[in-house]
Amino acid sequence: MQLLKRLTQTPGISGREERIRALIKDELAKLTDQVWVDALGNVIAHKKGKEGGKKVMISGHMDEIGFIVSQVDEKGFLRLSPVGGHDPRNMVAQRVYVQGRKDLRGVLMPAIKPVHLLTPDEAKAPLKVSDFYVDLGLTSEEAQKLVRPGDPVTLDRDFIEFGANVSAKAMDDRAGVWVMIEALRLVQEHQVDIYAVASVQEEVGLRGATAGAYGIRPDIGVALDVTLAVDGPGSSKQHQVTALGEGAAIKIMDSASISNYKLVDFVRSLAEENQVKYQMEILPRGGTDAGAIERVQAGCPVITLSVPTRYVHSNVETINKEDLGNTALLLAKFLEQAHTGDFAL
Ligand SMILES: [Zn+2]
Repeated sequence: MQLLKRLTQTPGISGREERIRALIKDELAKLTDQVWVDALGNVIAHKKGKEGGKKVMISGHMDEIGFIVSQVDEKGFLRLSPVGGHDPRNMVAQRVYVQGRKDLRGVLMPAIKPVHLLTPDEAKAPLKVSDFYVDLGLTSEEAQKLVRPGDPVTLDRDFIEFGANVSAKAMDDRAGVWVMIEALRLVQEHQVDIYAVASVQEEVGLRGATAGAYGIRPDIGVALDVTLAVDGPGSSKQHQVTALGEGAAIKIMDSASISNYKLVDFVRSLAEENQVKYQMEILPRGGTDAGAIERVQAGCPVITLSVPTRYVHSNVETINKEDLGNTALLLAKFLEQAHTGDFAL
């Protein structure tokens, strides 16, 4: 879990993936034949297959949700623009990292009165993302010197292992990146040409994977991402999407892509043949890089392998360790066998 810890603890909001990119580039270089960075910042690693083999693009996004500084106010507090989808209820009383002229730590709070001073009506008003600011503990002068509009802000939360699970910020989608790296470590003989992409700017609209797929022109696309596990208190089995500990999730559909049904059947059979624990997934709202890959050039069959995750888009995103291993194993088996499949419709 050391690698997953490093991946989740490194900051990288959409468009400012430089630190996480450097880390992933080094890891991919150890396992592939060639690694490069495209104009948008995607890391692309090529692992050669047999001459004339099909091109398989596997893609996990390396960006995380966060904020950029929009303003340093006259008292030295930072106002923010959100990058990606935040639930204001998850933002209250958090710690953050600010990548200014130097790295700074701060606290994130909504600009409302403390609970002791709220009237009953004020207490009922829902919070908005735009209510929040960062307190750096600096004077206005110090803050102005160290922070500029455009500087990235990420949530700050330790990685922990507890019971069968792990929890951290940015499991979405460093868990997918971990699965990609681990599968490249596990894969034995393969005939397909593997293009492993750590994509940028997924959280703001699948932008990196779009450019990545244009460059690669894959024959098959596999996105690697987290999906919702809604299996705790307050949820019903009907709406759980996936459950922790029930295995790798094979996506049938989400709101950005419908997986190629032959790929779904193929991956499901592989899981059964190799006794890899799996569950099927339909996600009513949300998308992955597959939604971008499937519609570039003249189209491409796609599927997503998902890691079931509780509390997505909070800073305690929680994953089961066995589900992680099973997802990587299933991807490795797929890469070894993909040349035997026919996914033409
Ligand atoms: Zn994601």
